Amino acid sequence: MTDLALWFDPAKCLIDGAWVAPARGGTLPLFDPSTGEEIGAIARGTAEDVDAAVAAAEAARSGPWGRMSAAERGRILMRLGRMVEERVDDLARIEAFDVGKPLKQARADAVALARYCEFYGGAADKLMGETIPYLDGYTVYTLREPHGVTGHIVPWNYPMQIIGRSVGAALATGNSCVLKPAEDACLTALAFADMAKAAGLPDGVLNVVPGLGAEAGAALTAHPGVHHISFTGSVGTGVMVQEAAARNVVPVTLELGGKSPQVVFADADLERALPFLVNAGIQNCGQTCSASSRILVDRRVHDEVLARMAERYGALRVGPAMADLDVGPLISAKQKQIVSGFLAQGADLEVAGRAVLGEVPDGGYYVPPTLLAGVRPDHALARDEIFGPVQVVIPFDSEEEAVAIANGTDYGLVASVWSQDGGRQMRLARAIRAGQVFINNYGAGGGVELPFGGRGKSGHGREKGFEAMYGFTTLKTVAAWHG
Ligand code: NAD
Repeated sequence: MTDLALWFDPAKCLIDGAWVAPARGGTLPLFDPSTGEEIGAIARGTAEDVDAAVAAAEAARSGPWGRMSAAERGRILMRLGRMVEERVDDLARIEAFDVGKPLKQARADAVALARYCEFYGGAADKLMGETIPYLDGYTVYTLREPHGVTGHIVPWNYPMQIIGRSVGAALATGNSCVLKPAEDACLTALAFADMAKAAGLPDGVLNVVPGLGAEAGAALTAHPGVHHISFTGSVGTGVMVQEAAARNVVPVTLELGGKSPQVVFADADLERALPFLVNAGIQNCGQTCSASSRILVDRRVHDEVLARMAERYGALRVGPAMADLDVGPLISAKQKQIVSGFLAQGADLEVAGRAVLGEVPDGGYYVPPTLLAGVRPDHALARDEIFGPVQVVIPFDSEEEAVAIANGTDYGLVASVWSQDGGRQMRLARAIRAGQVFINNYGAGGGVELPFGGRGKSGHGREKGFEAMYGFTTLKTVAAWHG
């Protein structure tokens, strides 16, 4: 771990601006996904640490943070964004190592984190209420106020991007935060919070308690001193988080999983589509909530699309994060077991394309990116989130059938439509159940400006863009009678 040159101790929590060992002194092992080796320890925070963090966040609200102008909050965030920008390479190395993602993908995450700080820093003083025409003698207006203490529970797949979009918007709107990063990847959360302190964020405004979900995570979601919870993770955990929050009647944003389709019609520009079709499935080794794991193809071009995707799969290079190839390892031995289990369920399916695992270190959590054909829409591999580098290709015969298959899972996060027909583009954009629909692209470069979130079991609430700032505030109506 020494070559990562960490400037903080990952076996500590950051609470009230100070690095402190967890109250019970616990640690969790830190694994390198590229080799499977245990190479250090992180803090195992528990309910006691969450208590201390929530108390610090609450106290910070009645200090300078609570009185700070929106413009000043914005300046701190923008300063933080510039600091992140200056350290993009350091953060990328830490994230690549911790998550196992190729260095260039980790670098893109660090650049996005800087951009979130810039965006929310700039937006902080632009969130406005409205005046409402009412009865004679009244003036009525609305105020957007912070919830108070916000809890942020983050998964391991894109820590920097998810922290940027949720903590960034929460700070911009004046909340103070307690962040529980994932036990499998918490290093950049700690780095970011340390940089926020250096950027001038008052002590106690951003606290980080690493630890297990069932311990620190559950304590945070059940805490009566938390006023809003932003959760990103699996459906099962999301349900538990929402149940716990319900007991305190606290609002929750759930960003959960997906089984996102790309729908390719016969008139699509395949030259443009092909890189999007494959990259959206294998980026971050398929461990992306908005991964496109289903490719629905007009039967008239099905064989051609399949062959051209398969060719790309054959050329994918898989290896350790620091080798910076196309695909890295999965995050953990557990994730490798899950993905291998899915592939075993698809043993009778046609493998149309598969990457060849070349020189990969023994013990690393590698699986070959795999493209499966002839998959019935009701097959587990076409319905369930695999969270690995596996895509299924499904033919369709009509626009109606394409929509029915696209909407045929419990999820509804992202979709894309590939066609030159403007009418069809608009019809599908409306008919597909998803939080985002892309036309002749996939992901639109992941823009921080674009509201993001799910339908169905993909969750509810929106993060990213200005929409997130509404979510991190509560609306107060003031009605003044003056005669
Ligand atoms: P997970 O639900 O296991 O863990 C997510 C976070 O929740 C971790 O920090 C974990 O420690 C915590 N947690 C676990 N149990 C908890 C509990 N009982 N109470 C409170 N917190 C608890 O999910 P994961 O395996 O880390 O992440 C993968 C999942 O996340 C996938 O389903 C993926 O689709 C989803 N995801 C969604 C988005 C999105 O924006 N929609 C983004 C990234 C990941």
